Amino acid sequence: MPDVVGAHNAGERGNPPHRVVIVGGGFGGLNAAQSLKDAPVEVTLIDRRNFHLFQPLLYQVATGSLSPANIAAPLRGILKGQKNTRVILAEATDIDARKRRVILSDGEAPYDTLIVATGSSHHYFGHEEWRPAAPGLKTIEDATAMRRRIFLAFEAAERETDGERLREWLTFVIVGAGPTGVELAGALSEIARDTLRHEFRRINPAAARIVLVEGADRVLPAYPPCLSAKARAKLEGLGVTVKTGTVMTDIRADSVRVRSGDQAEAIAARTVLWAAGVEGSPLGRALARATGAELDRSARIRVEPNLSVRGFPEILVIGDLANCSPPASQPLPGVAQVAIQQGRYAARLVRARLQGQGLEPFRYRNRGNLAVIGRAAAVADLPGLRFNGYLAWLAWLFIHLINIVEYHNRLLVLVQWAWNYFSFNRAARLITGDNPLPFGG
Ligand SMILES: Cc1cc2nc3c(=O)[nH]c(=O)nc-3n(C[C@H](O)[C@H](O)[C@H](O)COP(=O)(O)OP(=O)(O)OC[C@H]3O[C@@H](n4cnc5c(N)ncnc54)[C@H](O)[C@@H]3O)c2cc1C
Repeated sequence: MPDVVGAHNAGERGNPPHRVVIVGGGFGGLNAAQSLKDAPVEVTLIDRRNFHLFQPLLYQVATGSLSPANIAAPLRGILKGQKNTRVILAEATDIDARKRRVILSDGEAPYDTLIVATGSSHHYFGHEEWRPAAPGLKTIEDATAMRRRIFLAFEAAERETDGERLREWLTFVIVGAGPTGVELAGALSEIARDTLRHEFRRINPAAARIVLVEGADRVLPAYPPCLSAKARAKLEGLGVTVKTGTVMTDIRADSVRVRSGDQAEAIAARTVLWAAGVEGSPLGRALARATGAELDRSARIRVEPNLSVRGFPEILVIGDLANCSPPASQPLPGVAQVAIQQGRYAARLVRARLQGQGLEPFRYRNRGNLAVIGRAAAVADLPGLRFNGYLAWLAWLFIHLINIVEYHNRLLVLVQWAWNYFSFNRAARLITGDNPLPFGG
């Protein structure tokens, strides 16, 4: 297999510097790479995409508020000023832990330190057949596919003459009431009530039914109960039907089956959106096979307190793919802050080791969580402070804006949000993709 990385500067390989290979340019991997700026190491960042994606705003692409490019930034551009870092566009398929090489689909990348930061993917609780019927939200393609489904459903309803099918087209079921499910439900309600108002001649988009299904006994289960209650009340005020303590049992072309205790129900609906389970990305399983590392129930790698793989101190796992909590305790949440802090920690560990030192175990500093429900409505669970409503929404806007990578994207998003807020419009509600239309000829 060709070594696709090689020496960064051919000919200067007299005393080769320490090679750090990072797989994944998401929040964890990118922060690890940036924190190694000016370190005496050769950094190679490998990603199968040429951009860093700001996943927290994916739902805004899926609901037509923002365009894909607003929330993505080319990795090469972000790292262009970092002379010790190379970006390689490649898919990592395996890891040869004994020979210290990452196996790529078209070559290999040798390392001295490996940082695995490939994130997570959707998990359908053993029902892989649900995947095509209920798309999730993880990539740009997922977001544009979801956007297509949402806006096609209204188009199909406009052409529907059968009353029953019309109701099916105008019913949207969202599975999972974590932050993504809540955000999607709120945005869908606004699309139906505000954005599409006056745009159709036969249907009334505001008649759309949005059903949010959650297995736990409250929405936003990871938030304090008082904020869950506020979020639920706000969603219901937006016309969303919230079904907690309810699990989905089947999806058909024209309906969704759910169960709440002993009660089974069929909801006539043609659009189902998945915002429920996630699990560690597939490279995690390859890493577990290569190193004997243990996977937790969500296919995350159980790592040592310093984020390394047991028996392989040179392999660090960070972000959504890592579980660094002791077995009996709750894992850290799969959020950007955890990945960012772990990326920075991994870089500090590499620097410390180069000086023959160790580092104290990784400790997460929780800066709080925010979830948006709709226009001027959000909940904030910050250290020592819980609030909701307009102020929480402003905090959400501000924190998301400052965390978007690249200044021009921040500016574009700010302008777009201001425009959307005052005009009630969603200019990016394009139906794209080559798939045949689900109706008509
Ligand atoms: C819809 C959605 C909304 C969210 N909202 C929030 C929020 O509001 N607040 C919050 O804090 N967090 C939120 N999160 C979670 C947050 O985005 C994740 O916790 C964070 O992205 C994890 O960072 P990571 O670096 O572990 O992985 P990721 O950011 O997912 O990055 C993984 C990278 O690895 C690359 N990759 C994967 N496999 C391979 C491979 N085999 N070869 C090469 N490259 C590979 C991918 O292309 C990607 O660039 C949200 C997530 C989603 C999906």
